[in-house]
Amino acid sequence: MNYKRFLVAIIILIFIIGGVYFIGNNNVNNETETPEPTNNNANNTAEVTKSDGSEFLMDTLVRLRVHDENSQAVLEETFNKLRYIEDKLSKTISESDVYKINENAGEKAVKVSEDTYKLLQESINFAERTEGAFDPTIGPLVSLWGIGTEDAKVPSEEEIKNTIQKVDYTKIELQEDNMVFLKEKGMSIDLGAIAKGYAADYILDYLNQKDVESAFINMGGNVSVHRNKVDGTLWSIGIQDPDQSRGNIIAVVEGEDMSVVTSGNYERYFTQNGVRYHHIINPETGYPARKGIVSSTVISNNSSYADALSTSFYILGVEKSFEIANKMEDINVVLVTEDDQAYVSEALKERIRFTVDELEVIYR
Ligand code: AMP
Ligand code: MG
Repeated sequence: MNYKRFLVAIIILIFIIGGVYFIGNNNVNNETETPEPTNNNANNTAEVTKSDGSEFLMDTLVRLRVHDENSQAVLEETFNKLRYIEDKLSKTISESDVYKINENAGEKAVKVSEDTYKLLQESINFAERTEGAFDPTIGPLVSLWGIGTEDAKVPSEEEIKNTIQKVDYTKIELQEDNMVFLKEKGMSIDLGAIAKGYAADYILDYLNQKDVESAFINMGGNVSVHRNKVDGTLWSIGIQDPDQSRGNIIAVVEGEDMSVVTSGNYERYFTQNGVRYHHIINPETGYPARKGIVSSTVISNNSSYADALSTSFYILGVEKSFEIANKMEDINVVLVTEDDQAYVSEALKERIRFTVDELEVIYR
């Protein structure tokens, strides 16, 4: 009996040591895979390897997988690029472009990087397209609600009324020479609704330039894939179930070279008197958006578009969202409503498979 216990203890110990070893190596992990035969690489004998990595960046756990002849170097360079973007766009890093713009609101223009400048131009563009539902100057309202922080609370109506005055994208002045000015004191830029998409596009550009075989990027629900899977088949990306804890899905979308980005009320929220206050704020009302949508997914080749629009569509509701999406190219949508309907772009019909029964699926 004692001997048996000893044996069990030894086996458990081996598992623990093995587990720690695995976790320790999980961050950057190299495996060799047999390269897929392709038409034009008959002379190419270099081996395709796989590298995995994860790191907490841009407020979320970023997971990357790269298949390439230089997978490890590509993986490391990809993380460098993500750190570069975070250092420019973070609201809290005190040397970032966004921090500097906010610090000098109402006082003076500051010089920012070309990348930040372009992203601000694009953000203003989205604000116009969505009639202000997407507003990159949402900062003061985000701070007031404090959702996702320890200070989260329902503000008074007075506070909301006053704070809304500070949210107005038309008061971002983009001047020559990458100079940016926020016209009023107390205004602040928050690019949380588009930054991850922008970062994904930045990486995807690099992967294309490097002619990388295949890659998968997951930034806390913003998923992007480069080309197809290494075995030549399409990727299958799950769409998160808004009623379940992370990991459960409502549908699977197939494709290559695409981003699948979901905004939902289950990501960051607090509950007070039975009401869920989440992190997507309607700039018109100053309150968390309530247009009957519980999760909004956009699938597109362009990750910034998918990110900005999934947030916007959550705020705009079904009708307005489809009106906007159907005018644009390569913007496909899955909107799940409170009453268990899923409104889906017609163009997705052949590529999407629902994995739950309780949703009524409506294509349009
Ligand atoms: P996402 O997770 O992409 O839907 O973005 C949500 C984040 O975007 C929030 O945590 C805020 O930082 C920011 N945000 C909230 N409401 C808006 C809005 N109306 N326009 C732009 N950004 C917003
Ligand atoms: Mg977004």
